[in-house]
Amino acid sequence: MTCPPTPILEVSNLVKRYPMPKGFLRSTPADICAVNGVSLTIQPGETLGLVGESGCGKTTLGQCILRLIEPSKGEIQFNGWDWQALSGIELRRARRNMQVVFQDPFASLNPRMTIGDSIGEAMLVHGLADHRRVATAVGSLLERVGLPPSWADRYPHELSGGQRQRVGIARAVALEPKLIICDEAVSALDVSIQAQILNLLIDLRREMELAYLFIGHNLATVKHISDRIAVMYLGQIVETAPADALFDHPAHPYTQALLSAIPSLSPQRSTLPAPLEGEPPSPIRQPTGCPFHPRCPAAMEICSLTPPTRTDLGKGHSGRCHLLGQIPLNPEWPRRLAVHQQEMTNKRVQGASQAPARALPPSDDALEREKIFERKRLIQKSKRLRRRQSTRIRRILIVGFVSLGIIALWTILNHLVFLPRQLEKQATALRAEIEAFHAIFKRYPRDLNELGWRLHAIFPQGEARDPRGRPWIYRPPEKQDGLYGLQVAESDGIMQGDKTMESP
Ligand code: SF4
Repeated sequence: MTCPPTPILEVSNLVKRYPMPKGFLRSTPADICAVNGVSLTIQPGETLGLVGESGCGKTTLGQCILRLIEPSKGEIQFNGWDWQALSGIELRRARRNMQVVFQDPFASLNPRMTIGDSIGEAMLVHGLADHRRVATAVGSLLERVGLPPSWADRYPHELSGGQRQRVGIARAVALEPKLIICDEAVSALDVSIQAQILNLLIDLRREMELAYLFIGHNLATVKHISDRIAVMYLGQIVETAPADALFDHPAHPYTQALLSAIPSLSPQRSTLPAPLEGEPPSPIRQPTGCPFHPRCPAAMEICSLTPPTRTDLGKGHSGRCHLLGQIPLNPEWPRRLAVHQQEMTNKRVQGASQAPARALPPSDDALEREKIFERKRLIQKSKRLRRRQSTRIRRILIVGFVSLGIIALWTILNHLVFLPRQLEKQATALRAEIEAFHAIFKRYPRDLNELGWRLHAIFPQGEARDPRGRPWIYRPPEKQDGLYGLQVAESDGIMQGDKTMESP
């Protein structure tokens, strides 16, 4: 009996949460759970494909494994190291064993560095080549990824997308790593270039005994390169199987839905649309029980209550579903899948026996089905648009009402609290001034002029009272020929007289 090989990468129960603190519109703090208890292994020289919808947490998982972001919980064993325990110089040294190829080859290269410098820099840092030999090493790496060595002096903007991705791959393999994480490495490329890059990755894996974690959302592409495939949904791995087994016997309803959504090359459009409705739930408020139950056509009562545990179907095939492998899951759905598979088989047979150039005219059934699916698709699309619009309107209304509320509150506070306080302060200051006048001249001021210009500063326009309680009515001074006039009158209309004062 032979022992199973030690995995190069072993991830156990990995969790990544992004806390969202309490905010203006959120009364309780919440967490975005991007990765929720993921466990996986990769053997040396193996390629594990990771597929799922956008936003399901694939890239976050890759970044946690690379330690570009720190996981919240869980363990990572890589190449015999406790990966999370490494830090500083140890981590830097160990990192040459795990490299990454990013999705956007242009953004991942420094536009100010030649591609030779970009590839050679890491070799110099890790001591794999010295300054005299680095140019030769870079040249042979470029040759290995199918680029002329003389291109080492070019800048990234001088290359096409596929050539830049080859440079990204050359940079990743320059350090002779044991594992490369390809994060949607071919998604940004056109189909013919995708095939070239995939074949290059396969050749390098064979030559260098590399292991890959190949993240993608195109199942056909992922199948082309992967030995095993893990399907991810809402931060969890819902099914793992060898690539062929996953395509031949998808056991989880979500995997079946993904497979049924693979487009057909036939002009008759034999592909059935995915029997899934609605958007994936928000990672902030994850559903109870099975995370897939709000969209699962086979959901039962237990699915919303109890999260399914991992079930092993043997031969490396496992998943999380209460009905795993118990097809038919839904009386309607397997029938649709069977129709689809039959159509695909027919087309393969036709393709093998006939010249593939001319498309067959679509049958009445196919046309009818297509019409129904098209109608359903349009209904779903309009529902989605309506939902988005109503969400946008709700947000605008909330922001508008909140702003109006704040303005009204401020106005009320100003009139009830701040303004009276300010007036009271001014009145106190005036009283103090009159008392000071009285202390000096042993009499109260006869009119406002005697208080000087400060009175105007306190009451720019309005009414004041003298210490005997008689109202003073005055108007602000007017400038005339460089002098200011101040008119003061008592409320009974008897003018005290005009007085002209020099500007203070
Ligand atoms: Fe569907 Fe239930 Fe299986 Fe979840 S556990 S995938 S809801 S059948």
